Amino acid sequence: MIPTWAGILVFIATFFLTEFAAWSAHKFAMHGFMWYFHKDHHQGQPGFFERNDVFFLIFAVPSWLGIMLGLMYKQYGFVWMGFGIMAYGFTYFLIHDVFIHRRFKWIREINTPYFLAIRRAHKMHHKHINKEDGECFGLLIVPFKYYNEARKTYKQNKAVK
Ligand SMILES: [Zn+2]
Ligand SMILES: [Zn+2]
Ligand SMILES: [Zn+2]
Repeated sequence: MIPTWAGILVFIATFFLTEFAAWSAHKFAMHGFMWYFHKDHHQGQPGFFERNDVFFLIFAVPSWLGIMLGLMYKQYGFVWMGFGIMAYGFTYFLIHDVFIHRRFKWIREINTPYFLAIRRAHKMHHKHINKEDGECFGLLIVPFKYYNEARKTYKQNKAVK
């Protein structure tokens, strides 16, 4: 048994590490040998589902294994890790699929500098419709230049109101 505070630390650390895992999977796998599955997310196909959605299933595997094996073998650190990955996946879905790409109309505008910057950076990622020369492969960690631009936009918008 690990203490709850340690579990929470593992959970938070896993959440942030998953951003790096997602960044490298996106950059090296999805824009590399797995481009077949990611292509339609950049080039747009009719229909609600994308081949790209298969990545939700792929990334769910380590989360599921961590939770299931962790419970079976009473290694609760792995259970916390599994939930950290799951929380990241859920956040990714809300920010990337709902907030940025609007697959569901659940979230209205969020006009804070951080959210403006995340969306801007990801739109820059989508400027490239082929697998080469991408940028901004991460989601939650935004290059400073976009954050600074977003802060300026935010201040200008506020001044207008
Ligand atoms: Zn991409
Ligand atoms: Zn996207
Ligand atoms: Zn790209």
